[in-house]
Amino acid sequence: MKIAFIGLGNMGGGMAANLVKAGHEVRAFDLAEAALELARQNGCATFATAREALQGVEAVVSMLPNGKIVDSVYLADVIGVAPQSAVLLDCSTIDVATARKVAEAAGAAGYEMVDAPVSGGIAAANAGTLTFMVGGSEAGFARTEPILARMGKAVIHAGGSGAGQAAKICNNMALGIHMIGTCEAFAMAQKLGLDPQKFYDIISVSSGQSWSVTSYCPVPGAGPQSPADNDYKPGFAAALMLKDLTLAMEAAETAGVDAEMGKRARELYQAWVDAGNGAVDFSGIIRTL
Ligand code: NAD
Repeated sequence: MKIAFIGLGNMGGGMAANLVKAGHEVRAFDLAEAALELARQNGCATFATAREALQGVEAVVSMLPNGKIVDSVYLADVIGVAPQSAVLLDCSTIDVATARKVAEAAGAAGYEMVDAPVSGGIAAANAGTLTFMVGGSEAGFARTEPILARMGKAVIHAGGSGAGQAAKICNNMALGIHMIGTCEAFAMAQKLGLDPQKFYDIISVSSGQSWSVTSYCPVPGAGPQSPADNDYKPGFAAALMLKDLTLAMEAAETAGVDAEMGKRARELYQAWVDAGNGAVDFSGIIRTL
């Protein structure tokens, strides 16, 4: 299949490489020359503009920083430029309203478009083990699932347009809350004289267990290897967690939901990022406790 890929950064670079490995012809575009150089090394053809990359493609995949950029790339460079038969997949994490607006504009111009944000970080993008949450029609899901399956371990149809983004921010709101709770529990256990590994052995098989405990333990030396064992190098940077919690709080306001814990988690990450920790892994927030 001929696929255009727009946005080959930390995540998109590995995802595009996996499409090449799956036998697709990948036509790449990014504003950064370094990203294009890496894409070439991974077997993509690269182009100086999005418009050139879109020539004759059957699908367009994007992995861009935010909703404003997704909006401008699709409205200015993709819709009306890509062949109308091409299916459009935006994998970026963006707000639900923009995802729906762009998909509507694509639909009005005769395209099928889905939002397909991911769970999993850079390592999962490189390994092809992401989880995709897809928002769009049944037909859109059927067309995009085989493409997404080459970049992930799970592809789930969340519902109509925007449902993928809704699932993503609800998941990450829970993650932010769990991580802070896990950090508080480990910090308190230590103050109460418990050995961190001993506490890990107990909580990991007790009702306080969560992904933050067993896959991403925030204490060095306890549990499996995690960013805590690598001086909190990401992993998943605190700035990205803050981005997702901010999107979650915007969605909560729109939906009239009083998400007290989500609000507090956002405040704590905001303060920690403002203190200069945006590039630190999000589990490093334990250092403040
Ligand atoms: P990144 O900044 O590394 O990559 C974004 C790429 O988009 C860059 O190479 C940039 O040059 C390019 N770009 C920006 N504007 C462009 C434009 N107008 N046209 C073409 N290219 C453009 O970011 P990332 O870490 O790869 O994240 C991408 C998306 O994935 C974000 O929405 C992020 O929230 C989401 N995400 C990231 C992670 C993670 O762990 N990094 C995990 C899950 C989801």
